[in-house]
Amino acid sequence: MIEIQNIHKSFGDNHVLKGIDAAFEPGKVSMIIGGSGSGKSTLLKCIVGLHEPEKGQVYFDKEEFTQMSFEERIPVRREIGMLFQNSALFDSMTVEQNIVFGLDMFTSMSKEEKVDRANLCLERVNLKNTNHLYPSELSGGMKKRVGIARAISMNPKYLFCDEPNSGLDPATSILIDELIQELTEEYQCTTVVVTHDMNSVMGIGDYILFLYKGEKFWEGSNTDMLKSDVQELNDFVFASPL
Ligand code: ADP
Ligand code: MG
Repeated sequence: MIEIQNIHKSFGDNHVLKGIDAAFEPGKVSMIIGGSGSGKSTLLKCIVGLHEPEKGQVYFDKEEFTQMSFEERIPVRREIGMLFQNSALFDSMTVEQNIVFGLDMFTSMSKEEKVDRANLCLERVNLKNTNHLYPSELSGGMKKRVGIARAISMNPKYLFCDEPNSGLDPATSILIDELIQELTEEYQCTTVVVTHDMNSVMGIGDYILFLYKGEKFWEGSNTDMLKSDVQELNDFVFASPL
């Protein structure tokens, strides 16, 4: 369970997040939606500690993360799997090395164990036998799946994905969504996905948080979203082709 309270974040004069509250539950896919520039990625980064909010609290399973020292945060960070918007793979490393690299930083497993774990995770995302390929040899959807394999290689309790569907064709996009949903159930992890893809929201969103100009304008289930009378939300839904 992740809870956030009154999160504020500014870049210079740009007050990007203006007091966001939310709770994200285990075994569910929570989605942060909103137009470009509404503060979605900034909020995700504030939650995982890549940005420090000026005000507000983030709790991972009731432990306040925001007031922890760098060392105190390490065990929490170990439980976080993150899929970045551009997949963030190292081009000079093979698929397997990309995953092992993450395990090197955070675990004391033997080399053999790490390689085994990497290949198990690749198998889980249907990328068996791609371990010796380089990112340049992969399609966009395959790169996302390697990113997911890396994110799950640490058996995360919390899974964060920033725009997992960006740049993918609709069919691949659905496969990635299904994978995120399956993994959330399998690991019972608390999953938070940033997206502006309405197909994903309707397909796998259990809880939706709608940001508008850095404020929480609406939250609820995806089916309730379609019945909302919040104009800004309706405009967003209307502008997003299904
Ligand atoms: P979204 O993900 O919803 O498209 P972002 O969170 O990326 O929006 O950005 C929200 C606002 O914060 C934008 O105005 C953006 O220019 C600004 N911003 C984001 N990251 C930074 C940064 N590292 N430095 C300065 N401004 C930033
Ligand atoms: Mg973004």
